[in-house]
Amino acid sequence: MPEILAVVNQKGGVGKTTTCINLAASLSKTKRKVLLVDLDPQSNATRGCGVDPHGLLTSINDLLLGRSSADETIIRPDNIDFSLLPATPDLTEAEVMLISSEHKEYTLKNILSAFNTEYDYIIIDCPPSLNILTVNALSAASGVLIPVQCEFFALQGLSELITTIDTIKNSSNTSLIIKGIIRTMFDPRNNLATDVSAQLLKFFDDKVYRTIIPRNITLAEAPSHGMPVINYDKGSKGALSYLSLVGEIIKQER
Ligand code: ATP
Ligand code: MG
Repeated sequence: MPEILAVVNQKGGVGKTTTCINLAASLSKTKRKVLLVDLDPQSNATRGCGVDPHGLLTSINDLLLGRSSADETIIRPDNIDFSLLPATPDLTEAEVMLISSEHKEYTLKNILSAFNTEYDYIIIDCPPSLNILTVNALSAASGVLIPVQCEFFALQGLSELITTIDTIKNSSNTSLIIKGIIRTMFDPRNNLATDVSAQLLKFFDDKVYRTIIPRNITLAEAPSHGMPVINYDKGSKGALSYLSLVGEIIKQER
């Protein structure tokens, strides 16, 4: 069975997509077979893998609506070492449909359950909202990764998110676990960031990954070249930090 990791935070711009792309690429370097699922109508994970959503014939929207098969929809982008289930902006269509359909929270789970052997990891990039798409990701996942930017409102947003995860655990996915909190875009010169980081460690202790993802310009540049940072500049601090995070995630393997 693959480890299915939902990368979730309803707060926008905290590094979810950056984490998804670079985890997928770094896990692939360890010979693990990875599928990256873009579950956000913004399609940033798709673009970050060098794929233009407007050039796609099928996307996750069609798959969720039952209009295409997984084989027709999953692609292997040029120069990328993992598979991608791409999104397009019309994913909002499936979102609306899911709200009104029966068993709506299990649609993605049912699709992914076909992949018992092909992948070691399935990583799901979620939209910045606790909407039905995110609920589908949480219902399908074995674990949750929570990227957090160490800012003033971070802890408040985190408690809302943990309440949602608990609700899912008590209903559609009893085996769901929080794999860990990832501190992203960290700037050690910022005192507030250091304070919030210390609070995260105090409240969540070993649920916080020891690796800290630094604010690093290379991480921000790589997607504009359509590639993970490890392909763009493998010696950069950003690339090394995601490799270190993958080391921690691999240690958690059962
Ligand atoms: P959204 O909620 O809109 O989906 P997100 O949580 O997926 O956003 P990203 O798109 O990964 O966040 O990151 C937001 C912006 O910050 C992007 O421009 C990205 O390139 C940049 N960024 C992400 N992580 C880092 C980092 N560690 N250092 C510098 N820039 C970063
Ligand atoms: Mg994103």
